[in-house]
Amino acid sequence: MRFARLLQTCLLFAAMCGAAGLAQADATATPAQGETFSLQLAATGAAVGAESGTVQFIGTATVIIRYQGFTILTDPNFLHKGGHVHLGYGLTSERKTNPAINFEDLPPIDLVVLSHFHDDHFDKLVQEKLNRATPIVSTKEAGERLKRLGFTRTFGLSTWDRLEVSKGGARMRVTATPGRHGPAGVAVLLPKTMGSVLDFGANPDVPDYRMYISGDTLVYDDIHAIPQRFPNIDLALLHLGGTRILGVLKVTMDGKDGVRMMQVIRPKKTVPIHYNDYDVFKSPLEDFAREVKAAGLERDVVYLAHGETYAFRRVQR
Ligand SMILES: [Zn+2]
Repeated sequence: MRFARLLQTCLLFAAMCGAAGLAQADATATPAQGETFSLQLAATGAAVGAESGTVQFIGTATVIIRYQGFTILTDPNFLHKGGHVHLGYGLTSERKTNPAINFEDLPPIDLVVLSHFHDDHFDKLVQEKLNRATPIVSTKEAGERLKRLGFTRTFGLSTWDRLEVSKGGARMRVTATPGRHGPAGVAVLLPKTMGSVLDFGANPDVPDYRMYISGDTLVYDDIHAIPQRFPNIDLALLHLGGTRILGVLKVTMDGKDGVRMMQVIRPKKTVPIHYNDYDVFKSPLEDFAREVKAAGLERDVVYLAHGETYAFRRVQR
C-alpha cells in the first residue's frame, strides 16, 4: 500500500514535469523519413489485387486482418476472464472478458503487428507459445525484448520507419506512426508505443486499402503529422478504454479522445477496440458511443462485439 502511494506520487510528479515542458518533447527526435526494412513471405495463398478483406475483433487490441492473402494479427492477448496481467511497477490488472477465439485456434499468421510490449498486448501465454519464427513488427524497444525471448524475425521500428512485406506478387507496407502512452512525463515510465499505417496493394503509395491502428496513445501534437503523411485512411482501429493507472493517470484514449482522434485522422470508417476488457479500462464503450452521437459521426463508426467481423472492399483512388 505504501509502495502504491509512493508510485502514485512519482507518477503525478512525472505528469506535472511533462505538463510543464520539463520532459523531453517526443517531436525533437522524429526523423522526416524513416528507414525501410523488408520481409519476404512464402508465396502460398497470395491473392494479388483481391477486392475484399476482413477485420475480426478478438478482444482487447487483438484483431485478425485478412486481405490479399495476408493474415495479420495485432497485439495478441489470449488471456481469459479472471486472469491477471502485469503492467510493471508491481501493478496488475484483471481481465473481464474472454477472447473470441483461443490461441490454439489461430489460423497461420504471416505477421504480428505489436504496438508495444505490455502484458495486455503480448501476454505470457503468447510469449511462451507463439512460434519463434513468426515475423513481428513493433517498436525498437519491443524488438529487443522479443529477440531476448528467442523470436528470430523481429523488426523494431522508430517513428516513420517502414516494413515492406511481399508474399508472391502481393504487397503491403507497415509504417510506424507516433504514439505516446500517457502524458509526456508519465509515458517515459511506460513502454514505448507506436501506431501503424497498413497500406495494401501492388503500389503501397496508391494503396488498395489503407488502415490506421492507433496503439495505446493519447491524442497529442505529433498525431497531427499522421493525416498529413497518410491522407485518405479507409479504416481506423482505435485503442480506447481510457486506461487509468492507480485510478488517476489516463494513459489511453477515453470516449472523448476517441472522437477527437477521428476528427484529426479523418478515417472513412472507425472501429473502436481495446475497451471493457480489463479493470484498468475506466471509460466504457458507451462513453465513446455517446460522444460519437454528439459529434454527429455515427455513420462513420462500426461497432464490433468480440468475435464479429467487418468486411471491406478495395478502394478506387
Ligand atoms: Zn493496453
